[in-house]
Amino acid sequence: MKTRPPIIAVVGHIDHGKTTLLDYIRKTNVTAREAGGITQSIGAYEIEHNGKRITFIDTPGHEAFSRMRKHGIAVADLVILVVAADDGVKPQTKDALSHIQEAGIPFVVAINKIDLQGADVEKTKKDLAQASVFLEGQGGTVSFQEISALKGDGIDALLDLVLLVAEVEELSYDPDAPGKGIVLTSIRDARRGILAGVVLHDGTVRTSDSISTKSAKGKIKLLEDANGTSVQELHPSTPALILGFENLPQVGEEFIIGEDRMIEHTEEKKPVLTTTENKGSIKVILKADESGSLEALCDMFEKLGELSPLKVVNRGVGTITENDVKLSITTNATIIGFRSKIDKAAQNLSMGQHITIITSPIIYKLEEQFREIVQNAAQTEKRIIDVLATFGKGKGNQQVIGGKVTRGPVKNQESFIVVCNETEQGSGRIINLQSGKEDVPQAEEEQEVGLLVESEKPIQSGCQLVFT
Ligand code: GDP
Repeated sequence: MKTRPPIIAVVGHIDHGKTTLLDYIRKTNVTAREAGGITQSIGAYEIEHNGKRITFIDTPGHEAFSRMRKHGIAVADLVILVVAADDGVKPQTKDALSHIQEAGIPFVVAINKIDLQGADVEKTKKDLAQASVFLEGQGGTVSFQEISALKGDGIDALLDLVLLVAEVEELSYDPDAPGKGIVLTSIRDARRGILAGVVLHDGTVRTSDSISTKSAKGKIKLLEDANGTSVQELHPSTPALILGFENLPQVGEEFIIGEDRMIEHTEEKKPVLTTTENKGSIKVILKADESGSLEALCDMFEKLGELSPLKVVNRGVGTITENDVKLSITTNATIIGFRSKIDKAAQNLSMGQHITIITSPIIYKLEEQFREIVQNAAQTEKRIIDVLATFGKGKGNQQVIGGKVTRGPVKNQESFIVVCNETEQGSGRIINLQSGKEDVPQAEEEQEVGLLVESEKPIQSGCQLVFT
């Protein structure tokens, strides 16, 4: 095992100075000619401070901040939590703190904007204590540094602090392990093809290695380090640009050398698709406290929509009101609130009508809960006819069947999947539905039915017709 430099992410509330801090550190430490542009395409840069290297994840604060921030933290060994001294602890500060705690990553606090007239360092410290962040000298152990990201005050000391905390972590890597890391950026460059900005966590990466993520794979044609220099070999925790993916990997995905992750993934994805594919799309109403968070929420649901059919019935900024609930009743939509409050009338109405509202100040909690809803819906919406008897064949691939609706209702002309011994045996459709020798448009649960069906393969008694 060899030691490796720390990978740092900068997090905090919007406008508290994350970008300014990252810019200041880059400007004053990265001297290479093209480094600015390179950093942008990689999404990370590397500096040297007191002869030691540090990698910074250069995530923009605004663009899909939730997703990036989550990945920013997952990818980092250590986090700098920026809190502006003129503003104190804000919702996104708390949000960032929960991410940090969840991921169990060490962090230091940068109290920023101390050059401002309105800066109140003591109040900021009290705010932090209220958020259960107990700083050194305040009865706690969390290291902090007062800085001005704009003027550069305290930044050297902040970097000292970062190295100190990193040293305690004893970060290491195995040079013989297959290279592993995270994709930070991915673009299709008109001239060069697909370029992926990555940061390496473990192992060694070499040109001509095969590489894969859950959604993409390829063979490394060219490796560029953070200075834009082409290299044959990369070691952690270096940021780099990789040329050679056949398709675009997704930002935030883990990559690995020498394994084909992609296939694993397609298999993994299948059940999600089959359970929801034939079902009507799940409807949602999206609300958030401000336009930035609404954007992040919409972004997340766009991604979720790739996994299961999803329809956004309405979206808006502000409190969840009675109107949202009324819309939810008529459209059968679930209401999702990201940092949104629910007013009393909406709460009362929703309880009476069994409307699902999920709210959270943490975006990925919403994702988790929503996924659960999708899963449950997939399970509860299946309706079933047990096949009790089969009769002579009709014309072509038609067949006459007797059965019982064990979970209903079932409608005439509906399509179904044939399941025998818990395995899928093809699909079919009801051509005619009878109950008590009468043609009916629909049969209810517990009813015995006669069916004329069209089916790919002959259906046997004991099988089930599953309607989704
Ligand atoms: P981010 O949203 O956290 O990335 O915040 P930015 O870095 O974009 O900063 C938001 C605003 O605060 C910008 O106008 C910065 O110039 C300003 N700013 C950031 N750091 C400081 C600081 O230390 N002092 C002062 N006076 N302004 C700052």
